[in-house]
Amino acid sequence: MNLSDLDHRITGCRACPRLVAWREEVARTKRAAFADWTYWGRPVPGFGPADASLLIIGLAPAAHGANRTGRMFTGDRSGDVLYEALYDIGLASQPTAVSADDGLELYGLRITSPVRCAPPANKPTPEERDTCRSWLVEELTLLRPTLRAVVVLGAFGWQAALPAFAAAGWQVPRPRPAFGHGTQVSLGGLDLFGCFHVSQRNTFTGKLTPAMLRGVLRTAAGAAGLPTTP
Ligand code: SF4
Repeated sequence: MNLSDLDHRITGCRACPRLVAWREEVARTKRAAFADWTYWGRPVPGFGPADASLLIIGLAPAAHGANRTGRMFTGDRSGDVLYEALYDIGLASQPTAVSADDGLELYGLRITSPVRCAPPANKPTPEERDTCRSWLVEELTLLRPTLRAVVVLGAFGWQAALPAFAAAGWQVPRPRPAFGHGTQVSLGGLDLFGCFHVSQRNTFTGKLTPAMLRGVLRTAAGAAGLPTTP
């Protein structure tokens, strides 16, 4: 099985009743500003090339962002911040992400999340996080031949992803390393970096500044062997 097959299988998942109901209700009721959109309303697969050496792991799709557009971090303010930074350092072809057919390309980079369906209040339950982990394990296993570095955005993604790295065959230290912005951990052939999430709560308050975000992304790109622009 290849990554395209996996992405396709993910979009048909209905394993979490609460999240299936929520993602579909949001897709039906919509936000007024997007009334003329046909919402995606399904699980969102990873985005980016199958031979990526760098991976970014977020939290879960936003109700009116990726749950509307069907692509990771596309169509919401968090994505605006992330893609602008990726474009600035040369890892994305354009600074904006508005729809799945907007022409955006990622260079050597893939973006995914440990929970694939938009959760109410952006808060998946521990059970939902654990149920969705098998998709991430499969994705990591397929990326493993080329993957060299990972940036995890936020503590939720960090805690959700560490067991997935172990299940995909990397060495996760015991006790498990705690999340922190700028934290760097070697998993034996894979460098893991912590970064505050690009949520509005963090970017509007200055907890995560543009320079902080670019700093972590640049360091991780270097560890992945990807060239970045100055
Ligand atoms: S959150 Fe993950 S496991 Fe749950 S329904 Fe969505 S894709 Fe399936």
